Amino acid sequence: MGLPGPGGRFGDYGGRFVPESLVPACIELEEAFHAAWADQGFRAELDGVLRHYGGRPTPVTECLRLSKELGLRVLLKREDLVHAGSHKLNNVVGQALLTRRMGKRRLVAETGAGQHGVATATAAALFGLECTVYMGELDTERQELNVFRMELLGAEVRPVRAGSRTLKDAVNEALRDWVATVDHTHYCLGSVMGPHPFPYMVRELQRVVGDEAVQQCRGILGGADPDVVVACVGGGSNAAGTFSGFVDTEARLVGVEAAGGAAATDGIPGVLHGMRSLLLQDEAGQILEAESISAGLDYPGIGPEHASLAASGRARYEKATDEEVLDAFRLLARTEGILPALEPAHALAWVVREAGRTIPRGSTVLVTLSGRGDKDVAQVRELLAAGRAAR
Ligand SMILES: *Cc1c(COP(=O)(O)O)cnc(C)c1O
Repeated sequence: MGLPGPGGRFGDYGGRFVPESLVPACIELEEAFHAAWADQGFRAELDGVLRHYGGRPTPVTECLRLSKELGLRVLLKREDLVHAGSHKLNNVVGQALLTRRMGKRRLVAETGAGQHGVATATAAALFGLECTVYMGELDTERQELNVFRMELLGAEVRPVRAGSRTLKDAVNEALRDWVATVDHTHYCLGSVMGPHPFPYMVRELQRVVGDEAVQQCRGILGGADPDVVVACVGGGSNAAGTFSGFVDTEARLVGVEAAGGAAATDGIPGVLHGMRSLLLQDEAGQILEAESISAGLDYPGIGPEHASLAASGRARYEKATDEEVLDAFRLLARTEGILPALEPAHALAWVVREAGRTIPRGSTVLVTLSGRGDKDVAQVRELLAAGRAAR
């Protein structure tokens, strides 16, 4: 997974579909990121923050009891152990350092469930940057606690009352803010989506996950690579970071989406949020709302590089249902003493379903555990209670 083609293209996908007024901002960012990424000093500073503040490198854990249960050899890349509880910190710390390097003092971000908003507010606090987070009004009501977290971290949360009052409207507002404030503001986008250079830049900032994991797996597996590498896909940043470490190996790459928001499988090519990609749309081209138990996967599209990997067949994209996800959540808790976030529980759910089927017995499987499940415990309790009541 190298540089995108001219104009930020990944095959038929990607690009930079933005109003004229945003083109200079995207070009400034592209140039700033290229220069920073080629600068050993910038890389060393980022590595230092991720190590001493973020807790990197994260371990790869071999799951002995789960492996026995499934007839596989299961390894977990433990992004749940990163500060603030998920892989999101890798991206926001990189973008915050870049903001400072560009001489800017303010971050804007979009958030759906609130996780990326909290991550951005965390990085803003760490580096003394101002921070404004756009969040659909409906989401601010559903995720009150995350609004409070962002405020504790010193960010201002602006509810978005346009459209469906959810994530896709928050992205539009954040882009609008950025156009008006670009002289001192950076848009800290949360996944491998949006106009070029974001999909490329965010993948590069997350590639630390895959780069660490491929070496750690070789240590554990006597120099071999896993047979299958699995990650959940919302926009696709933890999967892109993971895949970038393994794309040149023989490993089968699998991204798992929520069945109620599977843009890689059910999407149609279209343009949204500055990129051409696979999007959930109705027959009139209206963007549909993604819906699953995992708010972090409820994005109606997928990053353009994933659309391209799906088209080439180098990666495959699968779905997991809410029920399978709850079962996988409980299975990991009981066999390994780890509560996964509901997002990576999708990746596990697919492994559980396919063990002994499309994943032959005895295979080695690496799953990226993108985040910890503490944030989801109350919801899981309600879902299980509702499930019992229904039975
Ligand atoms: C936000 C989030 C995701 C989804 O985002 P990607 O860009 O697809 O990685 C997945 N897992 C966790 C824990 C998250 O917080």
